[in-house]
Amino acid sequence: MKVADTRTITIAGAGLAGTLLAVLLARRGFHVQVFERNPDQRFDEAPAGRSINLALAERGREALRMAGIEQEVDTFTIPMRGRMLHDLEGNLVLQPYGASEDEVIWSTHRSLLNTTLLDAAEATGRVDIRFNHALDSVDWDQKKLRFMDGSEASFEVLVGADGGGSAVRNALAEVIDLGVTEELLDHGYRELTIPETEDGSFAMDPHALHIWPRGGYMTIALPNSDGSFTVTLFMANQGEPSFESLSTWESQEAFCREQFPDAFPLLTWLREDFEDNPVGLLGTIRCRHWHLGGTAVLLGDAAHAVVPFHGQGMNAAFEDCIEFANLVEHRDQDWESLFETFQERRIDNANAIADMALENYLIMREAVRDPGFLLRKALEHELERRHGNRFIARYSLVMFHRLPYAEVYARGEVQAGILDELLAGKSALEAVDFETAARLIEERLAPFSAD
Ligand code: FAD
Repeated sequence: MKVADTRTITIAGAGLAGTLLAVLLARRGFHVQVFERNPDQRFDEAPAGRSINLALAERGREALRMAGIEQEVDTFTIPMRGRMLHDLEGNLVLQPYGASEDEVIWSTHRSLLNTTLLDAAEATGRVDIRFNHALDSVDWDQKKLRFMDGSEASFEVLVGADGGGSAVRNALAEVIDLGVTEELLDHGYRELTIPETEDGSFAMDPHALHIWPRGGYMTIALPNSDGSFTVTLFMANQGEPSFESLSTWESQEAFCREQFPDAFPLLTWLREDFEDNPVGLLGTIRCRHWHLGGTAVLLGDAAHAVVPFHGQGMNAAFEDCIEFANLVEHRDQDWESLFETFQERRIDNANAIADMALENYLIMREAVRDPGFLLRKALEHELERRHGNRFIARYSLVMFHRLPYAEVYARGEVQAGILDELLAGKSALEAVDFETAARLIEERLAPFSAD
């Protein structure tokens, strides 16, 4: 049976995943109705302090290609070729992300990306977006959405793309056991700003993700196309030092001056940023079930929120949309089996990127300064250059390829074992036995066929 083009799909949330999915489904002939809690951000300012920019990787770019907006997004997106480490004396070291120079990560602007997606959705002529419609509850028997303002709307099929605090997930949890676990990290984040210089240029190298790794905490900065950097301070919520202990302007100023000495003079709005931008919570949400029969399904952060340390939450949400849209393209309207297949294909991948994102926090705030880590990185890249058909650094598999995350995780475990063996007792790349490396790789890793 062919998918009928009269069917309306209802999406809760016009964020990154909701709008992308609306475009992809509209392209497949569906009418799409989207309900969004916030006002239309094309006319209203985005709320302060909520990750103004995002790292976009190959998985996300593929989704933008599918939506036909990759080139438009590139007009406000900046390539970053590696991590620029800032030490306590202000010395800089660039650690390239990939084994080759063209492997870059992209810094893109959240709200410009969202508005580009909103425009693309409306341009299909099949997407109707209702702003200021905050979903409150769902009447599953009547298939009705109830909004905070008391209004209601009917739906046939509902997609919950309403983010980490999903109202659809809460409504589903009232009628089925979703097996939800929420692990809140005891670290949070606060956004700061390095504005553009007086002549409108960047105050630091724009083609890098800047990191001030300090062990228990860190600051990062990503470039924006207007010449500014969005800076994010990640640290413990309580303890010493913490967001709680830095409660006065004097303590905030002294801490930043001491810990981030080269960034401090550039953080000209530091006081206002500390005053105006709230401390954001970070956590991982996992669900064992993502759907209610053929009636409703979750995707993106609503199904699997991850901590931001691998820069993959949006990328993973976009991959969900691709998977979902491809299933719709290839299947009839048996929504229950479509949702089940979607969940089966995505859930292990969502769990894998959740785990890798948690691991990456320690890497970013601590390991990047460790000579042992740098040697391991150098070896990974060397092995990739020599045996790129089988061995690709796990970080690169996540960021520059589209191999499913769960397979990346599994390959990463095997590769870690190989690296451990090759590096045992070694302190320089020259000491590594590359004949043994070739044998181990040949024996343990199948040829690579990612994309
Ligand atoms: P959201 O973008 O949260 O969109 C949900 C939408 O639903 C919103 O528009 C919201 O207003 C709406 N909504 C919520 N509740 C309701 C309701 N009741 N009724 C109607 N509408 C509702 N990811 C990356 O890939 N790269 C990065 O570099 C990166 N950096 C990050 C940095 C930080 C500090 C944080 C917090 C996250 C970061 N992420 C990053 C993750 C990324 O932001 C999310 O994974 C992504 O936004 C998920 O998209 P989504 O559409 O599922 O949810």
